Amino acid sequence: MAETAVVIGGGLVGAACAEMLSRRGGAVTVVESGVVGGGATAAGMGHLVVMDDSPAQLALTSRSLELWQDLAGTLPAAAEYRQCGTLWVASDEEELAGVTPKQAAYHAAGREAELIGAAELARLEPHLRGGLAGGLRVPGDGVVYAPVAAKVLLERSGAELVRGRAEALVPGGVRLEGGRVLKADLTVVANGIQAAGLLPDLPLRGRRGQLVITERGGDVRVNHQLVELGYLKSAHGSDEDSVAFNVQPRPTGQLLIGSSRQFLRPGQPTSGDLDWPLLRRMLARAAEYLPDVATLNALRVWTGTRAASPDHLPIIGPHPERAGVYLAVGHEGLGITTALGTAEVLASRLGGAASVLDRHDFGLTRHSLKEVAHA
Ligand SMILES: Cc1cc2nc3c(=O)[nH]c(=O)nc-3n(C[C@H](O)[C@H](O)[C@H](O)COP(=O)(O)OP(=O)(O)OC[C@H]3O[C@@H](n4cnc5c(N)ncnc54)[C@H](O)[C@@H]3O)c2cc1C
Repeated sequence: MAETAVVIGGGLVGAACAEMLSRRGGAVTVVESGVVGGGATAAGMGHLVVMDDSPAQLALTSRSLELWQDLAGTLPAAAEYRQCGTLWVASDEEELAGVTPKQAAYHAAGREAELIGAAELARLEPHLRGGLAGGLRVPGDGVVYAPVAAKVLLERSGAELVRGRAEALVPGGVRLEGGRVLKADLTVVANGIQAAGLLPDLPLRGRRGQLVITERGGDVRVNHQLVELGYLKSAHGSDEDSVAFNVQPRPTGQLLIGSSRQFLRPGQPTSGDLDWPLLRRMLARAAEYLPDVATLNALRVWTGTRAASPDHLPIIGPHPERAGVYLAVGHEGLGITTALGTAEVLASRLGGAASVLDRHDFGLTRHSLKEVAHA
């Protein structure tokens, strides 16, 4: 049980894994080349959301929300955890018809979900435009400021933090830039999109996203994380660039506005450059649902890169060909939500307590070689 471990990556996923590993009793080291929680974890929206694109995704997000609710009471105020709920907005009757099976799926997963008519939608969120058909309110969803959550979990783990870049996996450990080798019984690869640099065969693709935060002092308030029902189509649909209406209320009164998705071309490096036409499309989409957003000033705009696997599910568990190497990568747009569930799956794969998630396959071998070759 008390194995030593090196975790590569101090994002939220690595921090959650480190915290789990330290609870198992072994000494844990985390290697981080930049700032703890400074990668995709800092670029993300921090929406903790149950999603139902596949049974495995529904199970992982639902279980993760339970784990977040358990953790929430122990987080400092700076983590800005709030259970504001998600309001999935239906723009017309056709979208509204799709809400009933979605509600049934949430109920089957043990999550509360309430059908909302047009009048109730307008009462709950008066800044939404008129003429929307209704929606689904998921009150157990929430938001968190993920960089702080990552720091807290890492501190709680008591792990030794080594500043440096893992350059290569070596038998029984990791070699850092400069030549130092960290030896351990287990190596957990949790360095987001850069995992492909250590293990080029991983089927990961970079998927950029852009976010806008408004200035303080604006008078457009929303009460839930608002997401259009077409979001899943944008998130998981085609390879084309896409945008969806997705707005989050911040405790400061600011609005965090998303979202966009854009696959990097093979070999294209991750970069912070903005794609202005896509950003305009994203803001126009937001204004279609929330017209008053056009009266607000943007304070800051940024981009980040999600690490996407071919089936949009994370890859968690042992590497089939490298003894002692475990994977916790490929969380795409749900890694803040699913970091805690990921650590639970990993614990179970390491021979810890069984998890309700054990019936789902998150392993690397679920991907065919063809997918790996084309990713
Ligand atoms: C625009 C956008 C919006 C998003 N919104 C949400 C959301 O609302 N809800 C949600 O659940 N998810 C969201 N996500 C997804 C979420 O942010 C990611 O899935 C999650 O942060 C992944 O965490 P991670 O720890 O795996 O990766 P990261 O946070 O990227 O952490 C990896 C760490 O590894 C370090 N590292 C990299 N290479 C090395 C190396 N060789 N050696 C040592 N260290 C290394 C990096 O510096 C980094 O700190 C969003 C993502 C984006 C881009």
